[in-house]
Amino acid sequence: MSVVAAAAAVQELDEDQRAALDACVVAALALSSVEGEARDRVRLLMECHGRYVRSFGVLEPAPPFKVFLERLRGSRVADLLPGRPRKSALGELWLLDADGAPSSALNRIAVEATEHGHQAPGIGADIRHLHSLLRAVGMLSEGAGLSRVCGETVQHAVFRTLRAAGSDAYTQGREAMVRTPVLTRRELSRNAALTELGAYTGISPTRQFSGVWAACPTCGWTIRAAYRPSGAVDLECEDERHSVLGARYRAEPAADGWRLTARGELRGVPKLVPVEGRVALPYALWLWVTLPGLLEVELRDRLVGSGAQVRLWPFGDAYDLHVARPGRSRVWRVDVKTWADPYGLAQKLREDPEGFDGMCFVVPEHLRGYLPLLRREVRGSGARVLTDTDLVAEVEGA
Ligand SMILES: [Zn+2]
Repeated sequence: MSVVAAAAAVQELDEDQRAALDACVVAALALSSVEGEARDRVRLLMECHGRYVRSFGVLEPAPPFKVFLERLRGSRVADLLPGRPRKSALGELWLLDADGAPSSALNRIAVEATEHGHQAPGIGADIRHLHSLLRAVGMLSEGAGLSRVCGETVQHAVFRTLRAAGSDAYTQGREAMVRTPVLTRRELSRNAALTELGAYTGISPTRQFSGVWAACPTCGWTIRAAYRPSGAVDLECEDERHSVLGARYRAEPAADGWRLTARGELRGVPKLVPVEGRVALPYALWLWVTLPGLLEVELRDRLVGSGAQVRLWPFGDAYDLHVARPGRSRVWRVDVKTWADPYGLAQKLREDPEGFDGMCFVVPEHLRGYLPLLRREVRGSGARVLTDTDLVAEVEGA
């Protein structure tokens, strides 16, 4: 289930279905979070149900409160909406599993597709922080709707603000947001551009337990923590791929604190770190700045390790990496694509048909199967598509 498909499916909903989705998402967050007073959560759930009932109109009866709450667990998203949209990608997603644990889609839909996500326990604080950041940099007018923030808007706002501090501060600030999505307060205070930007905030209550948190071994960000009825805590990176790669653990209370065990393939477990004194990027900045940047900085490190000279995000972010080998004239201009999006690639080429001669579009090795499709899209543009492994081999052999 691709996240791109889910975002497109939300666009296809009518106004009532979107209002229903909004109410379901906020209710699911209220059900699955331990943040705040129980009484406030019940009030929020009733408010969500009110909006849910109104979205059904007069022709289709909406389920009563108790049934509404029951159905949020384990139901596919499409089955919760008035008119039950068919053949929608939302038919493959759920908000809460049968045990009431949040799915990896829940926070993402809350950020991208709800108007009331800022009210929800858990992700709400992250969304409010993001909105105040967008307002501070002039990307969101005072009193403007808080709904449906898209990735491009957030990237544009953050990168434009960092660029205003100069090109070195831009590269360092952006690189820090990729490599260190969690910092100590002292480390943050040493980076003027990042402090000025105000991107980092306290660690979310949904990604800590008992005053501690753990970092995902793949992205370094705070792993989501969900209490189980047994008193154990399930930890899982919000990125489904990282979770599949092994960023899934269980913490159980032990005599000397918490015992962490791996639930996935990886045998090692991360350290539990105190929340005190640390700040982290909010969900949306991890999603739209850290995640897409991981392959870019990793590729830079591998190329530098093999003797190449690399500049990240050169010429005011014209592309991602500028690669050269000392003493040779050949250069590589590299744009990294972290997911296979033939439509987006074709669109980019159409927007600037002059500018892509000699450009290398690089996709991660696990998307090698998409190369023929992506190569069809760039035909005639002078650009090439290859995987990260291919690029490193090519630069090393040149
Ligand atoms: Zn991760």
